[in-house]
Amino acid sequence: MRILVAGGAGFLGSHLVDALLKNGDQVWCLDNLQTGSRSNLGHARGFPGYQFIEGDVREALPELAELEFDQIYNLACPATPKCYQMDPIGTLRTNIIGTLNLLEYCVSQNARLLQASTSRVYGDPLVHPQPESYVGSVSCIGPRSCYDEGKRAAETACYDYRLVHGVDVRIARIFNTYGPRMAIDDGRVIPRFITQALVGDPLTIHGTGSQTRSFCFVSDTVEALMRLMNCETAGIGPVNVGNPTELTVEELAELVVGITDSPSRFIHEDARNDDSRLRRPDISCARKLLGWDPKVAPAVGLADTVSWFRGRMRNVRGISKT
Ligand code: NAD
Repeated sequence: MRILVAGGAGFLGSHLVDALLKNGDQVWCLDNLQTGSRSNLGHARGFPGYQFIEGDVREALPELAELEFDQIYNLACPATPKCYQMDPIGTLRTNIIGTLNLLEYCVSQNARLLQASTSRVYGDPLVHPQPESYVGSVSCIGPRSCYDEGKRAAETACYDYRLVHGVDVRIARIFNTYGPRMAIDDGRVIPRFITQALVGDPLTIHGTGSQTRSFCFVSDTVEALMRLMNCETAGIGPVNVGNPTELTVEELAELVVGITDSPSRFIHEDARNDDSRLRRPDISCARKLLGWDPKVAPAVGLADTVSWFRGRMRNVRGISKT
């Protein structure tokens, strides 16, 4: 297969590129390096079948027109509030114009597209857990709207290209994914807790800590994305990809402190604006359609992630107090 991974230098994309190369596919990674880095794929350089293109999905990319892709994964978009809120208009453009541009390649190259959507399309859900049929409770003018509404518009673009041009689209609504290669300072709860625990600082819990999240280890998410892309059922609707094991933020903090064997305590700060109280996927559709279930237990995935963070933090001067 000839496969384009847009956003392939990011956390999730780089693990996907690894899995595709392992499969023997030819992989082009397209990335503008806004939040990703070449070092995430340093090991892939020189791998037969791997090429990196520095480029932006919002722009016309004539070099792509020459390459006949079979499949395009669209993961291009900053995924953390800290990063996507820095340039909200840019985030909207990446989601809307970027997705439309990739869909145009799918039309001309007869390629299949997998769109990395998000659990944030459900907003602050009034239905729990969230099945794909839930239409969401989303603010279109909040601090996260550029991302949430951008991803919703991208889903619409995919369905309209299916309707009008017959493009074979797949939509993965990804819930929180974690693992090695997350950016240490990306502000999400797992990197924050791990770095705080490793240096012995108090773990900062926003709000009461009773808000829940479901965390899926990156290898499980990548497996689901590949199964969804290669599933031969026609006309598939959006599919939730996540781990239904629900943890409160306080339980997560306790797990991290245990795994790192840290003396850290917890401090509570104000709840964040626009933050969901509950988020857990209903994955019956992924189970039925893809025969997929996450395999990695939180304690195992977190231990793996902690050991990667330990290695990174040793190399980052000023973060480690030891
Ligand atoms: P990430 O920020 O690590 O990766 C995103 C990649 O896209 C980066 O390499 C970045 O440089 C690139 N990019 C951003 N804008 C671009 C543009 N305009 N043109 C080309 N490249 C661009 O994020 P991630 O965690 O790997 O997430 C990947 C995708 O999965 C995103 O679309 C995100 O919305 C989605 N997702 C991730 C999670 C998660 O928990 N990680 C959850 C839900 C959805």
